[in-house]
Amino acid sequence: MHLGVILNRVFRTKDNPLFHYIVKHQNEINKLYFILPLEDLTDASEVKRDYYHKVVKGFVNALDKYDIQPYIVTYDKLGDLADTLALSHVLVAKDIMSYHKEIYDYPHVKQAFENHRVTVIGQRVNHYFEPTKTFNKQQQPYKVFTSFYKANRQDLVRTPKKSYQVKQLAQIAEKGLNQSDLKFTNSKDAEKLARKAWDDFLNGDIVRYDKLTDDVTQDFVSGLGRSLAYGLLDIREIINDLLEGYDSDETNYEAFIREVIFREFYYVLMTQYPETATKSFSEKCRSMEWSYNKAHFEVWRKGQTGFPIVDAAMKKLNRTGYMHNRLRMVVSQFLTKNLFIDWTWGEDYFRQYLIDYDNASNVHGWQWSASTGTDAVPYFRMFNPIRQSERFDAQGYFIKTQLEIFNDVISKYIHDPTKYKSKLQELYHIEIGKDYPEAIVNHKDSRAYVMDKFKQL
Ligand SMILES: Cc1cc2nc3c(=O)[nH]c(=O)nc-3n(C[C@H](O)[C@H](O)[C@H](O)COP(=O)(O)OP(=O)(O)OC[C@H]3O[C@@H](n4cnc5c(N)ncnc54)[C@H](O)[C@@H]3O)c2cc1C
Repeated sequence: MHLGVILNRVFRTKDNPLFHYIVKHQNEINKLYFILPLEDLTDASEVKRDYYHKVVKGFVNALDKYDIQPYIVTYDKLGDLADTLALSHVLVAKDIMSYHKEIYDYPHVKQAFENHRVTVIGQRVNHYFEPTKTFNKQQQPYKVFTSFYKANRQDLVRTPKKSYQVKQLAQIAEKGLNQSDLKFTNSKDAEKLARKAWDDFLNGDIVRYDKLTDDVTQDFVSGLGRSLAYGLLDIREIINDLLEGYDSDETNYEAFIREVIFREFYYVLMTQYPETATKSFSEKCRSMEWSYNKAHFEVWRKGQTGFPIVDAAMKKLNRTGYMHNRLRMVVSQFLTKNLFIDWTWGEDYFRQYLIDYDNASNVHGWQWSASTGTDAVPYFRMFNPIRQSERFDAQGYFIKTQLEIFNDVISKYIHDPTKYKSKLQELYHIEIGKDYPEAIVNHKDSRAYVMDKFKQL
């Protein structure tokens, strides 16, 4: 066969199931081409776009060290390239979720190649469970996380390492061309950096994970999200490491494994219910009359709501492409409940800005907050952003990293500046409404409105 290997979002040389497949089937391969299709991220934030390009460049450099040069093209050129190279088969990651655009997902890519009469071979690369095989005892999809977790936790087992030498691939691969505008000068190997960050976490903060995962002032989380979204590490290797260290600290390791299974749950769910990418999982909620107030959305997006915890979180996202899980819950509840804006607007904004964007986790994270999803937060348990701020950033340390205006302010006045506006004026000469915005909504009023809207359904 004339085999093209499609490399997007499997940006790793180690534990790469596509590489393993090639070595195992090399006797059947007459010609081998590596193809790296570039995603179009023109509508993404600059920080996210830069990160993607950095990762791609690092990966291409890493391959070059083994004397492998892939064809680098844009997605829309894939079909033409398949014709030019007379490919009979392509090897594709079949569990890639929309990490930026749906058209880069397996079903679309598969269809595109089949239109060019190319046979598609799909391989698992970035997830653990198989959506076509993961059902409950009634052969129905799991809709509740706890049942999914309880039933599938025992299926996590140590997997043997993939044995192949990247050098072996170079010996049989044809040399490709860079047909893109990207210049591949010395770039850091993102896979190595990801592996180091993961090892550091295993040797350090994992022992605090269960207790301190919600502490937004310290970075006790793993940062694994981005490594998984770009395929820098294989989830099977992550599970191997977690099972290996498990006995040393069951509580913290189990807490972490639970979160990783959350990612699998959402992936399986999304594959089984693809329509929930844009529609509420709850059919009842599809007729909800959300607000489409653009001015409110702008204020939320820019971090000018007058609720410091929300504003600081949004500013951090805009600057760095990252937001802590607790803060994702706070800002998504604020948008969908306090401002009552359609969750799909928030989901799309996160798509453009989050470096670790993962369609399934994001869509279902948003639907959790909006109370439209499966296993979502009940609508009557609406977060109070001031209370969240007092609980998870009690001293205001996180807020101060993003909103300099509060640098000298004592914690008592930070969480609800509108309430303490005279104190802020008197003690710190901060004028609420001028130097920092007045709260855009009153939490009690929003709560009453949301209750009413959901009850009407
Ligand atoms: C509104 C909203 C949007 C979200 N969007 C995304 C997204 O686009 N991409 C994404 O990877 N996660 C998303 N999450 C889940 C979670 O916030 C991130 O996985 C986490 O913050 C990433 O940081 P970390 O890797 O340091 O997390 P850690 O706390 O170190 O967790 C380790 C890993 O476990 C998984 N995980 C942890 N929490 C969750 C969760 N609630 N749902 C699914 N998987 C989880 C992730 O793979 C994560 O990398 C979202 C959550 C919410 C509430």
